[in-house]
Amino acid sequence: MHEVSLARAVVNTVLDALKDRGIKEQRVTSITLRIGDLAQVDLESLEFAFSFATLETELESCMLIFTTKDAVVMCTTCKQQSPYSMEHFYRCELCGGACELVSGKEFDVVSIELESVGVH
Ligand SMILES: [Zn+2]
Repeated sequence: MHEVSLARAVVNTVLDALKDRGIKEQRVTSITLRIGDLAQVDLESLEFAFSFATLETELESCMLIFTTKDAVVMCTTCKQQSPYSMEHFYRCELCGGACELVSGKEFDVVSIELESVGVH
């Protein structure tokens, strides 16, 4: 189940980012992820795995927000970009050249929201 390793990767990425920036006494309230159409991530499994991966960390009970990214192919000959579809994946509609995937497999942390939990 690769959602478990994805969830761990998200937690590590965010914890590292907080550490790098010297952020302390802040609770993470939400994390926005960008997931490509072809990334083959099961969001329900990911949320489930995430809720376990965040236990006893600054990310505990933080919310996951998902944004998607359309899959796009580009012709290696004429550089024409077009939306990914099964039938047009291999050949360019304009010139018949070979196409390659330029986006659609993303799995990125886009933003993090914080809330102070400091001493009052
Ligand atoms: Zn072309």
